Amino acid sequence: MFKKILIANRGEIACRIIDTCRRLGVRTVAVYSEADAAARHVRLADEAFCVGPAASSESYLRGERIVEVTQRAGAEAVHPGYGFLSENEDFAQACHDAGVVFIGPPIAAIRAMGAKSAAKRLMDEAGVPLVPGYHGDDQSAELLQTEADRIGYPVIIKASAGGGGKGMRVVRSADAFAEELTSCQREAQASFGNDHVLIEKYLERPRHIEIQIFADHDGHTVSLFERDCSAQRRHQKVVEEAPAPGIDDAQRTRMGEAACNAARAVDYVGAGTVEFIADDSGAFYFMEMNTRLQVEHPVTELITGLDLVEWQLRIAAGEPLPREQSALAIAGHAIEVRLYAEDPARGFLPSIGRLAHFVAPEASAHVRLDSGVEQGDEITPHYDPMIAKLIVWDHDRAAAVERMLTALAGLQIVGVRHNGEFLARLIGHEAFRSGTVDTGLIEREMAALA
Ligand code: ADP
Repeated sequence: MFKKILIANRGEIACRIIDTCRRLGVRTVAVYSEADAAARHVRLADEAFCVGPAASSESYLRGERIVEVTQRAGAEAVHPGYGFLSENEDFAQACHDAGVVFIGPPIAAIRAMGAKSAAKRLMDEAGVPLVPGYHGDDQSAELLQTEADRIGYPVIIKASAGGGGKGMRVVRSADAFAEELTSCQREAQASFGNDHVLIEKYLERPRHIEIQIFADHDGHTVSLFERDCSAQRRHQKVVEEAPAPGIDDAQRTRMGEAACNAARAVDYVGAGTVEFIADDSGAFYFMEMNTRLQVEHPVTELITGLDLVEWQLRIAAGEPLPREQSALAIAGHAIEVRLYAEDPARGFLPSIGRLAHFVAPEASAHVRLDSGVEQGDEITPHYDPMIAKLIVWDHDRAAAVERMLTALAGLQIVGVRHNGEFLARLIGHEAFRSGTVDTGLIEREMAALA
């Protein structure tokens, strides 16, 4: 096992990684921006280095600077968390060149999954099911229109380099296609520096179900089962749970095998998530693979009793998978909500300020809070305004729903606006209670929820 690692991230995920390191006796090095000098992750780490001004582009995204700090601090490996540099192949390469272990998959796997179009072609060859679509290199407007007509409306146009729910357009008829294409390409160029798009059949009211996989250096791959992340606002996850309601063992096995095949096709190593969209008939289709730890990994931890960061560290250090597939099982049900400093009554505008008072339900076998802030800390405009992830576990889904409602009712937050009541209305909604949430539910019910 490593003696010392650097965490190239901030907020709750940096704190989460430090927790596991402490338990394993691994020393931790934090990096921070000038705006984060007093942040919780800096307070928790054994050592900390400032890497630049508040803007992410001048601090958390400065890969070369972070590699230098890693070497100066004598850390053997870098954990990139999620976001920032976690799926950046240049950063992974820079780590490699400096003789530092990048705690993530091989560079070729990051690259293969990084561009959606190429990834889909690869998955098609590996026999992983895809939504009917066009993933080619020819990007002429005439050809794209012809392909959209062939696929049949509604279609979704996606930026191949896109992520975070950005750069997507749903088109409902042929005469609207040309205009939506232009605007999608413009947004893709502005946000991702690349206007390559793909086109897919747009599924009405699908569910988002993803599989957590792990692979080691010997080519062994396991599925740590699924998470349901169908509760989304503007294609961004709001609530996640595991296992997915209504999925039986046969379907779980089929999806797990498809996800492991996807991983094997790119010689994957480490933690990865294969995202699918699913319809009512039990059909599921590959959407993308995220080559890092996900925000929602705690629900998988609570139903499997495993520490996914520990698995990442062990595999990066060259150890084999800690367990075989036959030794993995699901116990109970877990739900996570993303608690944000934002105002649902004002279009979910971020709410900046000092967290004057912040009390969460006490941690227990049933309740977990992953947070990067404490009472007295600032929510700044520089980064994602997440306050915390609140995660609950219980013996079955109905009990977990009640557990979450109780936990949300016990939150005390003063100083910033937050989405706690919105989340409680969502969890209490009959569609959520009955386990029939699709990705459009929040938008359809927005007036009732916000
Ligand atoms: P991103 O990389 O931005 O997260 P994804 O391709 O993973 O983009 O899609 C994000 C979300 O968009 C999905 O969870 C789903 O809600 C919706 N979505 C994507 N593709 C389709 C599709 N073909 N039909 C319906 N909804 C889709």
